[in-house]
Amino acid sequence: MTAEPAGIVVIGASLAGLRAAEALRHGSYDGPLTLVGAEPYRPYDRPPLSKHVLAGELRPEASRLPERTRLRARWRLGNAAVSLDRKARTLRLADGTELAYQKLLIATGAESRPWPAETGGGLAGIHTLRGRDDAASLRADLLAGPRRVLIVGGGLIGCEAASCLRDLGLPVTLVDPNPAPLARSLGTWVGGVIAARLRESGAVFRPGAQVLRFEGDAAGRVARARLADGGTVEADLVIAALGATRATGWLRGAGLTADPGGVTCDAACRVLDTDGVPCPDIYAAGDVARWPIRLYGDRLVSVEHWGNAVEQAAHAARNMLAAPDDQRAYVHLPAYWSSQFGINIKAVGLTEGADAVAVVQGTRASRRFLAVYGRAGRSIAAVSFDQARWLPAYAEAIEAGAAFPPILDATDQPRIETAAPGFPPARPSAEAAHG
Ligand SMILES: Cc1cc2nc3c(=O)[nH]c(=O)nc-3n(C[C@H](O)[C@H](O)[C@H](O)COP(=O)(O)OP(=O)(O)OC[C@H]3O[C@@H](n4cnc5c(N)ncnc54)[C@H](O)[C@@H]3O)c2cc1C
Repeated sequence: MTAEPAGIVVIGASLAGLRAAEALRHGSYDGPLTLVGAEPYRPYDRPPLSKHVLAGELRPEASRLPERTRLRARWRLGNAAVSLDRKARTLRLADGTELAYQKLLIATGAESRPWPAETGGGLAGIHTLRGRDDAASLRADLLAGPRRVLIVGGGLIGCEAASCLRDLGLPVTLVDPNPAPLARSLGTWVGGVIAARLRESGAVFRPGAQVLRFEGDAAGRVARARLADGGTVEADLVIAALGATRATGWLRGAGLTADPGGVTCDAACRVLDTDGVPCPDIYAAGDVARWPIRLYGDRLVSVEHWGNAVEQAAHAARNMLAAPDDQRAYVHLPAYWSSQFGINIKAVGLTEGADAVAVVQGTRASRRFLAVYGRAGRSIAAVSFDQARWLPAYAEAIEAGAAFPPILDATDQPRIETAAPGFPPARPSAEAAHG
């Protein structure tokens, strides 16, 4: 056991961890504060990694987040937490040391889903993109001038990477099992706009395609992908953009409700034990947290968005300092942005279960539009492509549970165009709960 006095310990020294630490100090917490991080770096920002860092506009180390408060914290970086003993109120770190805590914030975020080793995952030239080191290693491989890059997965990160790589003039193929990129988050109807931009950029887009395995050359470098339809794609650099799982492996055996879909909290961000009882001294925030979202009928969700990490961290910190009878519920409307193929995408709300989508401003054909998603006559989400001026008004309407479409007199169209969003079938298991 270390001689350090117990106090508040934050596990995960990234966006949520940093923002929580700042909120604790702003909230007049004056006691010992420790931030534990698996990576050797002070907190840095991930969104630029798949945009400016890949494009070579920003060095990976220049993504560091500003520390806006004098934290007076002990930093235990490059030293992951490997287990939690709730009875003893201690954590074990990777270097074997134990750390005592009075209160704990879990902010361990998420990890890229790697390509499985059995089907070629160990080959050189296969990358994932989650952290600063990933971005640096991918950027170095890009500078070597690959003959063809294969991106597996047309989610936000796959699409942003494709956009950057086309700007760099690199030959790109993107494969995705769905009919359009971003189909899972925005539906095929809206995702079709990105499919068109992807193709116009000169990339090859193969919808409905599934990679079965990778094969390498004599030097152990990836050479091609074998697809489920019997075809092959030649590629000497691969970006596996397969989504993320929550970093909860270290909580195995701790008696908490945690799995690769997240660590489950109550509305006040207190982590639930395996009996479903909130732990008064353990909170969670950011990508790793799965909580009942009031706006969507208290469905359990975990969202991988920058804005949630910031807001939930501040909220959890507030509750950590508050009395047991003053625990406030976290109320949040999920929101994110993305930039790709010259389009500025902004989205609010959760699209899951949407049965209709309506363009309420602009047009899909012009690729400048604001679309609202509805479910059973209610507005549940909205997305804008280069048309965000009215998005806050739609966000308010969604928060208020307005009918679908919510604002009829804000449209610049003679009539509102409504379509089926075209979501792929839901994934099974815990992932279905992800926002
Ligand atoms: C490439 C990329 C682009 C993105 N772009 C956007 C965007 O455009 N818009 C948007 O809204 N969101 C975007 N996001 C999502 C956004 O960055 C995340 O929502 C945000 O980083 C979540 O912060 P977090 O602190 O909860 O988790 P993370 O940022 O994942 O940080 C968790 C930290 O915990 C550490 N950790 C994990 N396990 C342990 C352990 N056992 N012990 C100690 N430390 C541990 C990790 O190493 C990591 O440093 C992007 C994400 C990525 C990866």
